Amino acid sequence: MGSRQVTSSQEWTGRRITVAGLGVSGLSAARALTGLGAAVTVVDGGDSEAHRERAAAAEAEGIAVRLGDAETLPPGTGLVVTSPGWAPSAPLFAAAAAAGVDVVGDVEIAWRLRGPDSAPWLAVTGTNGKTTTTQMLASILTAAGLRTTAVGNIGTPIVDVVLGEEQYDVLAVELSSYQLHWAPSLRVHSAAVLNLAPDHLDWHGSMEAYAADKGRVYEGNQVACVYNVADKATEDLVRAADVEEGCRAIGFTLSAPAPSQLGVVDGILVDRAFVEDRRRQAQELAETGDVQPSAPHNIANALAAAALARAYGVPAAAVREGLRAFRPDAHRIAHVADLGGVAYVDDSKATNTHAAQASLAAYESIVWIAGGLAKGAVFDELVARSAARLRGVVLMGRDRALIREALARHAPEVPVVDLERTDTGAMAAAVHEARGLARAGDTVLLAPACASMDMFANYNKRGDAFADAVRGLGA
Ligand code: ADP
Repeated sequence: MGSRQVTSSQEWTGRRITVAGLGVSGLSAARALTGLGAAVTVVDGGDSEAHRERAAAAEAEGIAVRLGDAETLPPGTGLVVTSPGWAPSAPLFAAAAAAGVDVVGDVEIAWRLRGPDSAPWLAVTGTNGKTTTTQMLASILTAAGLRTTAVGNIGTPIVDVVLGEEQYDVLAVELSSYQLHWAPSLRVHSAAVLNLAPDHLDWHGSMEAYAADKGRVYEGNQVACVYNVADKATEDLVRAADVEEGCRAIGFTLSAPAPSQLGVVDGILVDRAFVEDRRRQAQELAETGDVQPSAPHNIANALAAAALARAYGVPAAAVREGLRAFRPDAHRIAHVADLGGVAYVDDSKATNTHAAQASLAAYESIVWIAGGLAKGAVFDELVARSAARLRGVVLMGRDRALIREALARHAPEVPVVDLERTDTGAMAAAVHEARGLARAGDTVLLAPACASMDMFANYNKRGDAFADAVRGLGA
């Protein structure tokens, strides 16, 4: 393990650290801290065969593991490092608080492990669009000839990147609200909050607590706090943040930009923030057609990525080149096929109403396939806003009645097929029904507004099932 970038390891030698969770990020933190000389115990409530196999592998690397008890604090613990999935209400953290022991996450550890010349961080958070925006940012930075990678909630665990041998000029860091919650001392170069809509409220306890955790990303920013002009809550978070002297608030908008904003004029992405005279000058960055897919919410993502890159000093030409080179991950508004004049689009990653709203806004006339696990969501606003675009709806999954009821209230004239099936062939049945409802020029859109786990292992499998079913229609 390289120590080049790392702060003095004395801070860690001999410290007794408890890591909560034997998952990927937990293990990566445990390995890193063990490598720095800490005495690490990983605790996990599970005790299955798979857990024991992982535990044995960790123990072979000198990491102690305690299975079957996620609640009590191992004696002598001086610091708890948690994995992102653990809710703040977990009993282990109450035990830590009672013992006066700090709880931090893997991002905080990575931050503390950085040395004086390690790469600055450009951070992205928000309810939706984080992964896409972070990857766009990495693509733009790469186009500018900078050594970078997209990390955080994606890719290699961030602790491994900070400690690894590979040198970076700058990192594009995706941060979830969970990670921000547990990263109290993070102070990044620049950060963007893309949007704020209710999600994960069971974890955070309330919308206020969720927003406050997202807002932490702005604390101590050095150069720019990037916010969404159309989402006032993000601007409020900038106002509330304590930033470095000279740090600027930079807005992004799908309309013409005011000074200190990036926006869109006649299909051109324009920068009126990072130019010499922002009252009189505007810099063309790219065209909307350079962004894949060029749906409105994705143009917003591109503007946010561009703002962070420009805050870092990237030239306009690299923004265009980076956006052109970027391709979204699978299941994010992925065009699957055109059959009989009907487009079939897989946005299985739209696992909440805010995301589904964005993809429904991207098409004129839609046969919408929706449903799954609602996670406490309410569908009235989504349905009311999208009603005029709906040719028909096919519902599936456990909580589909919630969407059906919202449709009855706000779009009673739209035909609805309610699929009771939850077997493996259900998606093929849904696609078949959707084809029956669609007319030439329509889009059949899988944007479930729900999680997938009632019927599928994850959203990837749900999207794959959709694509297979569509190909089945064509065959
Ligand atoms: P995250 O990492 O935040 O989950 P992704 O980039 O993976 O975000 O996109 C998840 C889904 O959210 C996409 O499939 C799309 O439906 C939706 N989405 C992406 N960007 C936005 C945005 N800016 N606003 C609203 N919804 C969005």
